[in-house]
Amino acid sequence: MENSTFQWYQTGEQVKQRGAYVWFDLKGLVMKMNSIHMHSQPKSRRLLSIPSLATGLCFLLLSAYCTLAAGQVDYSAAASSPFVDPATLDRSIPTGLLASPAHAAGGESPSIGGHNVYYGDLHSHTSLSDGSGTPDQAFTHARDAGKLDFFGVSEHDYWPEDMTDQKWNTLKDAANAHNQDGTFVAFWGFEWTSDVPPDGLGLGHFTVVNSEDYCNSTKEPTRTLNQFVTWLSTQDAVAIFNHPGQYNTTFDEFIFDHTDNIVGMELWNRSQDYYSKTGFHGDGYFDEALREGWRIGAAGGQDNHGTDWGTKNEWRIAVLAPKKTRASIFEALKARRFYSSRDKNLALSFICNGSQMGSSVGAGTLACEIEAFDGDNESFASIELLRNGSVIETWTPNDTHPTMTSSVAGSVGDYFYVRVYQSNDWTAISSPIWVTSAESRGAGG
Ligand SMILES: [Zn+2]
Ligand SMILES: [Zn+2]
Repeated sequence: MENSTFQWYQTGEQVKQRGAYVWFDLKGLVMKMNSIHMHSQPKSRRLLSIPSLATGLCFLLLSAYCTLAAGQVDYSAAASSPFVDPATLDRSIPTGLLASPAHAAGGESPSIGGHNVYYGDLHSHTSLSDGSGTPDQAFTHARDAGKLDFFGVSEHDYWPEDMTDQKWNTLKDAANAHNQDGTFVAFWGFEWTSDVPPDGLGLGHFTVVNSEDYCNSTKEPTRTLNQFVTWLSTQDAVAIFNHPGQYNTTFDEFIFDHTDNIVGMELWNRSQDYYSKTGFHGDGYFDEALREGWRIGAAGGQDNHGTDWGTKNEWRIAVLAPKKTRASIFEALKARRFYSSRDKNLALSFICNGSQMGSSVGAGTLACEIEAFDGDNESFASIELLRNGSVIETWTPNDTHPTMTSSVAGSVGDYFYVRVYQSNDWTAISSPIWVTSAESRGAGG
């Protein structure tokens, strides 16, 4: 049965204890109320003190209904732990009262730019390493509570104990058991976790998805970045730069052997923005890596260590793919046909000369098209087109479904990507389009 979920939040990214500031996820309610004149919603989470009699009345009715319908809520977790995840305080309500989420597992996926959009996450932990719960619980929660289309568990390679064949097979078996093409896609993986000495060489963390085997960043022969890349090239896998700069790790400032298997970088991790952090040389990590020639797309990871798989926040990796199957989504990851979204149902397309984000195009004049919309009809305040990390064009559409076109000059070595804003902070960032050959290519090139 589909459920709409209420979440209780305190200000800040995590609920520390039940207290004064309660945020209420009004999306379902607002959608339902659209038909009764409540049209402009500034942001999905609003403070309860909305100065509207109608809303207040609805809330009272709703609260009464919650109490009757949902029964008692167990707050024991909140009492015992100083950092309680919002997910543990969820209470579910039958769909009869609220509009169902615009996007639900197994439901309609939005289509844009010739593809469907699938929302998911690839970076999470369970008690197989330093997280909570089991892989079975993680996949189930991500699918049913998180409403994700795809989800991956990526356990640490050495922390708190070394990965073993037994744990690896447990994880793989769980992913295979939960993968249901067309409904929910489950991936297994691990996090190559090169922490500072004495554990590792302080090189950084990568989420590795779909590898047949695993390796260990604290042991030969996979301790250095070049060794890791060599190992990665033996696998049908993709890897993602995680939380760049965190834990004093270096990624050797992105100077190491390139591999096509590293397809992205987390622009956010947990509930932190890494895109806006200053990198090793004064710019952002994403652009510094792109300038070093990495062909990486815009990713992110909830990096769950509690039982909030897919429900830590509304931030997602959104994949543009023809089908909700493991093969189709994996192919899209390899093609960098994905974007980083801090909204759970934002749709974004960025096409140049007929080729979708993640593609390579030829040099010359590029005809670019940007399209965006949101499952909750949220408005787009501004859209930026960037070349080599610098904004070259800005639009302020203030529209719920903007479509922008632009003619830009692209030379070999240039990369272009798009940032979209629903408020002051970026809401979504596309993967780049790269100009890789001197010859102009036609549509679809
Ligand atoms: Zn990590
Ligand atoms: Zn992690």
